[in-house]
Amino acid sequence: MNKIEHIGIAVKDLNRSNDLYEKLLAIPPYKEEVVASEGVKTSFFKTGPNKIELLTAIDNNGPIAKFLEKKGEGIHHIAFAVDDIVAEIQRLKKLGFTILNETPKKGADNKLVAFVHPKSVNGVLIELCQEISTN
Ligand code: ZN
Repeated sequence: MNKIEHIGIAVKDLNRSNDLYEKLLAIPPYKEEVVASEGVKTSFFKTGPNKIELLTAIDNNGPIAKFLEKKGEGIHHIAFAVDDIVAEIQRLKKLGFTILNETPKKGADNKLVAFVHPKSVNGVLIELCQEISTN
């Protein structure tokens, strides 16, 4: 894994949280994006080399809705950038980690993503993400 690509934070109200993070970081979000397949709307902030992803539920049965219901707002996942997501999934699987989706799927911000179940990583949901090449 290369680096932490972003930290995902679950929020109840994306507009209000965008305002809050804009004040906190003194920059506006650089994009908002709906990922319909996950039932989420996201926004992204860049501060120095780091990114924050805010996520809110647009589908009451989606994973973010369930997370907010169970745990409330807060850190939802840590995402690591990888060069070869398929190889990384296989590597982690062999080591005994529980992979939530063994076939990478299209996530927000032009990424292929896969998730490692929090129960196999001390309660932290881990996202692997690989930039989708645009050439
Ligand atoms: Zn993410």
